[in-house]
Amino acid sequence: MGEALIVVDMQRDFMPGGALPVPEGDSIIPIIQECIKLFSKRGALIVATRDWHPPDHVSFKENGGPWPRHCVRNTSGAEFVVDLPEDAVIISKATEPDKEAYSGFENTKLAEVLRERGIKKIYVCGVATEYCVRATAMDALKLGFEVHLLTDAVKGINPEDEKRAMAELKKSGAVMEDCRSLLGNSYG
Ligand SMILES: [Zn+2]
Repeated sequence: MGEALIVVDMQRDFMPGGALPVPEGDSIIPIIQECIKLFSKRGALIVATRDWHPPDHVSFKENGGPWPRHCVRNTSGAEFVVDLPEDAVIISKATEPDKEAYSGFENTKLAEVLRERGIKKIYVCGVATEYCVRATAMDALKLGFEVHLLTDAVKGINPEDEKRAMAELKKSGAVMEDCRSLLGNSYG
C-alpha cells in the first residue's frame, strides 16, 4: 500500500526566533529528519506543506487577522528548516491574499497528488499540532485516507489545545504512533 509522510509547516517563522514561533518547535527537527530518511528508504512519498503568504495576507494583524505577519513567500521566514529529498512534493497553501488555509488540502493539489500515486496511508508530523497539523489530518480522514499522527514529531503552541486536538483526531479515527518506535534502535 502506498504511503506518504506529510511534514507540516516546518518553516523558520514557526521556530523559536521566528515571527510566529511554536515553543520548542525546533526540538522536533532531528526526529523529523530521521523520519524523512526512514520513509524515503521505505519508498514513501515525502510531502512538505508550507504557508506561502502574499505580503498583504488576510491572516495578518495589519489586515484584521489573528496572526503577526509570517511566512511571506520568498522570504527567509518562509524557508524550510528540514532538509527534504529532491523528489519531495512541496505544497504551498494560503497563497491568495484573501484566503486563509490551515490544512494542506485546502485549495491545493495535495489530494490529487496522493491519489495519482495510489497512496492510501499517510503519516503526519510538524507544527502546530492544534492548527495546521490538526486541519491537515482531519481533512485527510474526511477524504478517506488512513491517517497516522506521529505524536513525538509534532509540537503545539498551547499544551491544552494540543491535547484537545490529539484527542479529537484519535476520536475521528487517526492512529496515534510515535516515530521512536518506528525508527527502532537506530534512534537514541
Ligand atoms: Zn499562515
